[in-house]
Amino acid sequence: MTGRSGLRAGPRSEIVAGAPPPVANRMASTTTTDHATPIRIGIVGLGKISRDQHIPSLTADPQFQLVAAATSSRTCPVDIPLYPTLGEMIAATPGLQAVALCTPPQVRYALAREALDRGLHVLLEKPPGATVAEVEELAARARDHHLALFATWHSREAPAVPQACEWIAGKAVRRGAVIWKEDVRKWHPGQSWIWQPGGLGVFDPGINALSIVTKLLSRRLFVTRAVLHVPSNQHAPIAAELELADGAGTSIDVALDFRQSGEEQWDIRIDTDAGQLVLRGGGAQLEIDGAPVVASALHEYPRLYERFAALVRLRAVDVDLAPLKLVADAFLIGRWLTVEPFEE
Ligand code: NAP
Repeated sequence: MTGRSGLRAGPRSEIVAGAPPPVANRMASTTTTDHATPIRIGIVGLGKISRDQHIPSLTADPQFQLVAAATSSRTCPVDIPLYPTLGEMIAATPGLQAVALCTPPQVRYALAREALDRGLHVLLEKPPGATVAEVEELAARARDHHLALFATWHSREAPAVPQACEWIAGKAVRRGAVIWKEDVRKWHPGQSWIWQPGGLGVFDPGINALSIVTKLLSRRLFVTRAVLHVPSNQHAPIAAELELADGAGTSIDVALDFRQSGEEQWDIRIDTDAGQLVLRGGGAQLEIDGAPVVASALHEYPRLYERFAALVRLRAVDVDLAPLKLVADAFLIGRWLTVEPFEE
């Protein structure tokens, strides 16, 4: 549906079923993926998000059996075998069917490629890779191998996002604003990869907002202006301002900042011809014209794994690159401003 502004509102389906598998790549794809048998899955990378979300979600989900991890760590919250590399984990784990890649984005392509080539279904943490083209290559590879590939956007699974999509569908969008500010020392302690090339800096959380906006509105959004504030001793922005537009010139202002002190602010406001929508708390709460509609705790990762299980059963690819393209384009057309050094 296209509103008067030209912004199309409403959710989209991204699932594309894979083609039949080439004989050479049939390893795990010949193992059973019926509904009664849990999917045998391994995790790569036991960092913050693995421990906070992936492991609890997997161990609580009867559709999965977490059987191993590839990690440099010697400890794991659950009693499973640990291997130093993905290759060693695959070799030592008969019947392994899937992997969840929970590393930083810079190393994800090589791991995903290895897993797909060994016949495993793959779940990618966000952002799905370090570049747009490498993730497109992975999607093509997964389809060629007839395997599931899921580029997850956890914020799209936030409790209020489906209601927000439902409310906005068919309405004409006039303008919008995103404010995504958090204290990097609180949320990303010790994560030096975030400041390296490919680590995205403030776009690591900021891409969560863009994943919601591109679900709420249209993938035909594009970046018209970007200012990137980069600490003089780092390789990625600590703050950014963007202007997004659609073909009709409707604008959405985006302000991202890692220098927030105190409470984080993860809000999206969209003005339409039929009222105002505000998502707060990263998609946890929805307000329509100032009145609260949903207030709920986040349960994003159980929903991601529910979807991944369905994709595995279907051997389907779900890769939406719209949020990553906006970030890439901000880096392409952005004005780079050098700001004071950042020391943790
Ligand atoms: P993290 O705490 O730094 O953990 C990343 C883990 O990846 C490391 O502990 C390490 O696992 C493994 N790894 C492999 N190669 C690495 C390398 N070259 N440099 C650093 N680590 C490497 O990061 P995280 O917060 O879990 O984030 C991982 C991914 O999840 C990122 O893409 C991030 O955007 C996404 N994510 C994070 C959050 C969050 O709240 N933190 C939320 C949603 C999504 P081992 O220690 O096991 O070797």
